[in-house]
Amino acid sequence: MYPQLDEVHNLVRKTARDFVERKVEPNARRIDQGWYPRELLREMGELGLLAPHAPPEYGGPGLDFRSLVLVVEEVARSSPALATVAEVQGSMVVHNLMHYAGRELRERWLQPAVRGEKIIAFALSEPCCGSDAFSLETKAERVGGSWVINGTKLWITSGMYADAFLVAARTGSPKEKHKTVTLFLVERGKCVETNPVTVMGVRGTGTAEVKLHGCEVGDEAIVGGLNGGFKVVLDDLNNGRTCVGAIGLGIAQGAIKEAEAYARRRTAFGTAIINFQVLQHYVASIKAQIEAVRGVVYTAAYYRDKNVEFFPLYAQIAKYLGSRLAVDATRIAMQIMGGFGYSTDSKVEMLYRDAKATEIYEGANEVVLNALFKLAEKYEA
Ligand SMILES: Cc1cc2nc3c(=O)[nH]c(=O)nc-3n(C[C@H](O)[C@H](O)[C@H](O)COP(=O)(O)OP(=O)(O)OC[C@H]3O[C@@H](n4cnc5c(N)ncnc54)[C@H](O)[C@@H]3O)c2cc1C
Repeated sequence: MYPQLDEVHNLVRKTARDFVERKVEPNARRIDQGWYPRELLREMGELGLLAPHAPPEYGGPGLDFRSLVLVVEEVARSSPALATVAEVQGSMVVHNLMHYAGRELRERWLQPAVRGEKIIAFALSEPCCGSDAFSLETKAERVGGSWVINGTKLWITSGMYADAFLVAARTGSPKEKHKTVTLFLVERGKCVETNPVTVMGVRGTGTAEVKLHGCEVGDEAIVGGLNGGFKVVLDDLNNGRTCVGAIGLGIAQGAIKEAEAYARRRTAFGTAIINFQVLQHYVASIKAQIEAVRGVVYTAAYYRDKNVEFFPLYAQIAKYLGSRLAVDATRIAMQIMGGFGYSTDSKVEMLYRDAKATEIYEGANEVVLNALFKLAEKYEA
């Protein structure tokens, strides 16, 4: 049905959907109530669903980025929170270790990360700076033969539970902004203090403030080279933004499925409310948008797999349209379900809260549009 996908992708979707029905759907509310889904991440790792793009030598099935995107979409239909944690681990952390880490780090961390045995958080944002990330204040200073890292990170997904952190730190003059940022892999230890941050949606993702009090690491902990953080982060954000588009797609599908089923059961004025044509239009309009956004998200992932230069343009479009769709679809789904949709007994209530995060994380949509504006100018047909 989708020209960007083949038979293997259809099989990946089927495997993911089966896992979601058996393991994720029954636990979605538990996650929403604050349960960090470590067990599910481990199971995803065992099934090759956490990092399907990782090669067999690192414990993965050796598939591609499209497979990851499909898994994220399927998981987000039931639990956008689990999809968020999995997406960070797969599209950012595993990707970084595979492409930018030295042998020592790869040998120690890659397989456990791919298998879901170790969780690594991605720590870029700070209290001072989220959109303006390259003004970051966390410092890594050379002391003897080591690096000593001090600073505070904020909003870090999996921060409360991660075994290690990929930390962006300043390794030169702040005036040089993105030219003096380096990524370090910092293991959880006494120098790391984590404090929970209460969030409206995607609960259960262990969102945290992460304080680094003089964490000492060697040169082997550097990912992407000294002062090479900018390039790695840009690469990450393009992957991550494509995956956020997939999360938006999953949320929209989960919400409209729930709302349509409800509208077929619920009667008013002597008929099932689905018979009111306005509700049919609401459902049809969201379904049309889901198919349109699928085209964009799958194309972005296809371009990533094939190293096509338009990938960054499509990654921004995927993030922007996918997140907008998630917010619109959950709003409409809740409207279709009336009072029940607004109650915590409905799944749509959770998806409505989760959806909003997709417009903010991995770059606020305004920042995504800034990038999109420039890329669209460059690639205009
Ligand atoms: C649930 C959740 C999980 C997250 N997980 C992680 C994580 O794992 N790791 C991590 O490093 N970070 C994470 N973040 C942080 C996230 O990436 C930042 O919140 C985001 O980049 C926005 O930064 P900020 O919150 O500091 O907002 P600010 O930078 O203060 O921006 C506030 C608003 O100002 C506007 N704005 C800012 N700059 C511009 C501009 N140039 N042009 C136009 N408008 C602009 C936008 O509307 C924006 O929403 C997470 C955030 C959330 C909510």
